[in-house]
Amino acid sequence: MKFEIDKQKCVGCGVCVQLSDGGTKLSKDMKAEIVDNEKIEKAGGESVCPFGAIKRVTDNKENKQ
Ligand code: SF4
Repeated sequence: MKFEIDKQKCVGCGVCVQLSDGGTKLSKDMKAEIVDNEKIEKAGGESVCPFGAIKRVTDNKENKQ
């Protein structure tokens, strides 16, 4: 499973960094970046961010028709 950060929504609070045990990090512009998708998934995926800035990237290649 892959995740991405919606930088428009991210306020740089750092909650995701703590909850995911380093699955994300804050960049210089104080926006979160994905470091380890697996850690984020274990921590609860998109629910880790109280601001809804973590989004699941769905890979639907197999379902495409
Ligand atoms: Fe950004 Fe959400 Fe992480 Fe806070 S918890 S730094 S708003 S992605």
